[in-house]
Amino acid sequence: MSHSHALYNQDESIGNVLCELARAHRILELEGHGDMSMGHLSYRDPHGRGLWLKQGNLGLEEVEAHHFILIGFDGDVLEGQGLRHLEWPLHAEIMRARPDVAVVGHTHAFHATVFGATDGEIGPYVNHAVWFADHGVPRFSETSHIVTTPELGTAVAATLGPAEAVLLANHGIAFVGKDVRDATLAGIFLEWAAKAQLALGASGLAHTPPDAAETVDKHRRIYPQRARDNYWMYFNRKLDAHEARR
Ligand SMILES: [Zn+2]
Repeated sequence: MSHSHALYNQDESIGNVLCELARAHRILELEGHGDMSMGHLSYRDPHGRGLWLKQGNLGLEEVEAHHFILIGFDGDVLEGQGLRHLEWPLHAEIMRARPDVAVVGHTHAFHATVFGATDGEIGPYVNHAVWFADHGVPRFSETSHIVTTPELGTAVAATLGPAEAVLLANHGIAFVGKDVRDATLAGIFLEWAAKAQLALGASGLAHTPPDAAETVDKHRRIYPQRARDNYWMYFNRKLDAHEARR
């Protein structure tokens, strides 16, 4: 995985994370999250100033490490140039509510968005859905509007609760993690779980979810740190191969 040199010379480590975060956007494009210039991820500033959010007017596949702006939790632009996405409060309020979260993502991933428009609940029918075994995937259905105010951001964060992701009914999804790797895997696995469950429903065949306690145990077994690192490296190799072909 390549890291660019210090883009933000006050702290090289921020530049390195933003390089990884830019790659996460491009990986998510490959995994079905793209929707023109919509969708964005953010990284909690390690100095407590706010969050680094992708600039507007860029597709996920176009994001590079210099395409981030630092905004305060009230939305003030503190560093960087370019358009601030309207949905910045979604990121800011989730980060305020969840000190354990360093990375927030919001996309309009196709299958997850379609699934979010139903009344269905994501169940542990396939391994990818097991990522969400502990808390499920709640649905925010107070509005189908985009999340452009602190009030709506707070409401989305409340619906998310301790979970790894939330369905935004008739809009998209949000997903979180303690680092770039975990948040990206949450986004990818939610899209794949929703795709599988839509296929399961469309099959018309009877299906029964596996035992809940078994699923929680399975989560521990199939997603230890070592496996997460492996999958993250896999997606980075896949991105490198894709970009080398272009
Ligand atoms: Zn949106």
